[in-house]
Amino acid sequence: MPCHPARARQLLRRHRARVHRLAPFVIRLVDREATATQRVGLGIDPGSQATGLALYRVEPTDIGAIRHVCFGLELHHRSALIHHRLGQRAAYRRRRRSANLRHRAPRFDNRTRQPGWLAPSLFSRVQHIATWTRRLARWAPVGGVDLELVRFDLQKRESPETTGVEYQHGTRFGFELREYLLQKWGRQCAYCDIENVPLNLDHIVSRSRGGSDRVSNLTLACVPCNQAKGRRPVEEVLAHDPKRLARVLTQAKAPLRDAAAVNSTRWAVKGRLEALGLSVACWSGGRTKWNRARLAVAKSHVADAAVCGDLAGLEGWGPAPLVTIATGRGTHQRTRPDAFGFPRLALPRTKAVHGFLTGDLVCATVPAAKQAGVLTGRVAVRSTGSFRVGTADGIHWTHCRRLQRADGYAYTHGGTPLLPARKDRVSAA
Ligand SMILES: [Zn+2]
Repeated sequence: MPCHPARARQLLRRHRARVHRLAPFVIRLVDREATATQRVGLGIDPGSQATGLALYRVEPTDIGAIRHVCFGLELHHRSALIHHRLGQRAAYRRRRRSANLRHRAPRFDNRTRQPGWLAPSLFSRVQHIATWTRRLARWAPVGGVDLELVRFDLQKRESPETTGVEYQHGTRFGFELREYLLQKWGRQCAYCDIENVPLNLDHIVSRSRGGSDRVSNLTLACVPCNQAKGRRPVEEVLAHDPKRLARVLTQAKAPLRDAAAVNSTRWAVKGRLEALGLSVACWSGGRTKWNRARLAVAKSHVADAAVCGDLAGLEGWGPAPLVTIATGRGTHQRTRPDAFGFPRLALPRTKAVHGFLTGDLVCATVPAAKQAGVLTGRVAVRSTGSFRVGTADGIHWTHCRRLQRADGYAYTHGGTPLLPARKDRVSAA
């Protein structure tokens, strides 16, 4: 059960717990076999660069569930790097194909892709999210996962384009609708294409002329255009620009295909989490945005994960999230190539040097040298035995002691604290 850092220190001081892991910091109780636990949930906001994960205790109240955030994790992916590296590998192979080398048997028609195949850069993202969910579910009694899956949820079986809607500002539905329209109209004014200004909902056929509240009659206009148009018919306003008139009228009628809902990565994440045996509830980004505005939470990856789904209030200790960067576990390459792809130098055959791996968390006690003192950090090994610890280079391996094995991630603190100190974070849903 996640506990406050002060409580953890107390348990360790009284020898009632021992350290299980340093990053993230996990302790294991030694004086109890089974304990009563409370409801713990995990919120996930998958992003292309970074994914937010938030672990929270769920307190049921009369007005709804209140979440007490215990732990936040900002997981930075390495999709761009994988894309770059695979491009590089393809280039080396392309050179070898045309170079005057020994005969290479053709191997161009032996590729198959299973249904649900994802590009390696995208698949790594799915794997990282699954890895961290599995770890957190092992350390804490995670009952269910709240996953942000789609961008809009207009809660209509029918197409939103053909359904009459209420669009009161401030309701959850209003947020979903605004997000939908922003996406559909490209976040710009439909009449003058201006971007990055406040946009009003605009009735193409004004309500005083019998225009409906259907999404197919709504567009976005900047404040000057919206006021200039007033109640005049759109044909009159855009009489000077028949091309734009035709575009606005056709685009208004065309429904938006929700790109996020067909985003295969997100569905793959959902599938992987369900395969872990967790119950996964899926929510829309519009709801997250509504929750964030309602509870006055600053936008961050972890905050989005904490307010994803159905909640009445949010409370937290304001912990700075643990920033986790996916670094991988080294390379399969056995040579370093020069600019033309020719081998420049050979890499060692083994990754371990004197039992240390690059990425291990070590504590180095340097007795007398320029860097005399105690250093803690990620180690980069060299076969000469002269290591780099954190930013300090030239640390001899005999001074190092391993604290935690490399697990493919680098850890830093220093993300933005989740919640500014405010007490009025509870409101009726
Ligand atoms: Zn405008």
